[in-house]
Amino acid sequence: MQRLEARIRNIPDFPKPGIQFKDITPLVKDHAMLKLSVHQLIQPFWGENITAVVGMEARGFIFGSLAAWELGVGFIPLRKPGKLPYDAQSVSYDLEYGSAQLEVHVDALNSNDRVLLVDDLIATGGTAVASCELIEKLGAEIVACAFVIELDDLKGRKKLSRYSIHSLIHY
Ligand code: AMP
Repeated sequence: MQRLEARIRNIPDFPKPGIQFKDITPLVKDHAMLKLSVHQLIQPFWGENITAVVGMEARGFIFGSLAAWELGVGFIPLRKPGKLPYDAQSVSYDLEYGSAQLEVHVDALNSNDRVLLVDDLIATGGTAVASCELIEKLGAEIVACAFVIELDDLKGRKKLSRYSIHSLIHY
């Protein structure tokens, strides 16, 4: 984990004063660290009969699609509003900075699906809670939520107490 942590760059006051932005681009440009992070993200979930990995736009797409590839299942993108071309379900939520919406195609998942939700980082947990809500609206079951980074002080884990949470690096 120390090797992963060494590849996360802290950018103070981005995108707003007071935010310590955790930049994962140095990690994902390093093949060995990218591979290690994805393997560690999915490691607890072998044997859990995951049928789909869901990832949030945009950094959740990087880790989520690689996690899906490794697990041998499909990837479902949760997108920002107005991007999906077909019928979509939508949720609104609060971020550490500002507010946002996420959407998913109505036929992306169903009640036969066992989902691993993946994002780069959990802060307040608002994005992940909204994502879980969206996934459950389609009838799918959430097996766990996996994050590369967890900002412990923001207590996102508490908001997700109904779910199993797996994070690699804690700040
Ligand atoms: P939250 O909904 O507060 O848990 O915020 C999580 C989402 O916002 C994730 O998709 C992150 O990519 C992004 N995010 C929030 N805070 C930060 C941060 N300090 N550094 C990098 N990304 C962040």
